[in-house]
Amino acid sequence: MKDILKKLIKKLAGESDQIIDSSSYRLSIPLKVYPYALKYHGKLLTKDELLISKQKLEYLIKENYLKVLPSINQTANNTECLRCKNNSFECFALIDCKRCLNTHLYCRSCLQMNRVLACESLYYWHDKSIVFKEIEQVNHWQGELTNAQQYGAKKAINAFEHQTDKLIWAVTGSGKTELVFPVITHALEQGMRVCVASPRVDVVKEFRLRVESAFKNVSIAALYAGSEEQYENAQLIISTNHQLLRFKRAFDLLIIDEVDAYPYSSDQRLKKITQRSRKKQGTTIYLTATPNQSLKKLPTVFIPTRFHQQPLIIPQLKYSYQLNKSLKDKKLPSEFTQVLNSRKKPQRQLLIFVPTVKLSIDLKAEIIRMLINKSLIKNKIEVESVHASDENRSEKVNKFREKKLYCLITTTILERGVTFPSVDVIVIQADNQVFNSAGLVQISGRAGRSSADPNGHVYFMINNNTEAIKKSIKDLKYMNALTNELIL
Ligand SMILES: [Zn+2]
Ligand SMILES: [Zn+2]
Repeated sequence: MKDILKKLIKKLAGESDQIIDSSSYRLSIPLKVYPYALKYHGKLLTKDELLISKQKLEYLIKENYLKVLPSINQTANNTECLRCKNNSFECFALIDCKRCLNTHLYCRSCLQMNRVLACESLYYWHDKSIVFKEIEQVNHWQGELTNAQQYGAKKAINAFEHQTDKLIWAVTGSGKTELVFPVITHALEQGMRVCVASPRVDVVKEFRLRVESAFKNVSIAALYAGSEEQYENAQLIISTNHQLLRFKRAFDLLIIDEVDAYPYSSDQRLKKITQRSRKKQGTTIYLTATPNQSLKKLPTVFIPTRFHQQPLIIPQLKYSYQLNKSLKDKKLPSEFTQVLNSRKKPQRQLLIFVPTVKLSIDLKAEIIRMLINKSLIKNKIEVESVHASDENRSEKVNKFREKKLYCLITTTILERGVTFPSVDVIVIQADNQVFNSAGLVQISGRAGRSSADPNGHVYFMINNNTEAIKKSIKDLKYMNALTNELIL
């Protein structure tokens, strides 16, 4: 886009107010407005976020490019932040405002992303004349889709063409990322804007890596807390749901990955801001391996087959009546050794899930000791533990991905969206209420993901069986049975 702008400026030197109306750029605004249109279209921003002089701001408002909206809507029964859609009264607070010298509300809910003050407006670029130019040959992905993936991909393109929403219910390891590449390509080539949103930072980062190598000639940005990407006006955006609060009616195609994952699944605000980021005339595609009942009401395409055609791995239950007592002493019972002994390929990496941050830290030394005893590792640096607020979270996950670690102990943060090619999985205290049935299906799906090693073990170490465990195993068996029945 910068090149286009440079060319135009050169061509129109000294004629900066001239109107450009070029069908190839689909641009019909004064040249001097163009940089602002590029920067702000599809955005909903506070004045501080605009980074613009007072004079220019007044011009853009006067000429009706920027629309001024209230930031906090207060009625007798309801108070709502129109940026983050927070409407619970306890998430607002009063401030003695230095700007207007009054005392009024501000929103605490989206405070981390710049303070929204009741006396300040929000600004929305609602001019529709800027769209991206059409791109040829955007998709450079070298792989091939399986029949099942092609079937899903066609349905997704069809939904996009008809501007209808779709749920793609694709089992873990079915390659749902690659499955949406054709519909993303289709939209980008037409100059449309695309967003892939996920509740999980790890998923955003992994998705970004994959699209970066697959798509060329297109601007891509990944947005998550702490991300350094400045190109928020990129044509293809990979974002956490939270970051979408700065967007409004921006995307023609919105793909929501891991749509049943926490916190998106239970947070109405996140749902509202995610939906708001899509244009009214557009398509939302929901992706998950474990849809809940309400998601299943959407028009659905079901992909029951893993891309390598091998079945999903059914967890083995390992009862240990000493388990809870041992864990209190930061120890593991003898059944853990039995699990280690029963693995057919000890060279596979070990991904161990625990229900709490405390256990992820407490058990590290014990797991190191046992793995050294079994000669599975030589050095304690081959084991790490990770949880949501771990500062070195990405680094540790990358080390595990690069096989620099033998074992990674994790909370549920890695239950979905991440791919390691050859792992065995152990869930310690799978009977803890933290693990719901969808989560257990997702966790089981971390094993057997590559065609080089489509197998693997999944062990649930438990004291009691639970409804969640029973349902997860029933669902996994059901999906395997469907795979056998369906010829796609
Ligand atoms: Zn807010
Ligand atoms: Zn004020």
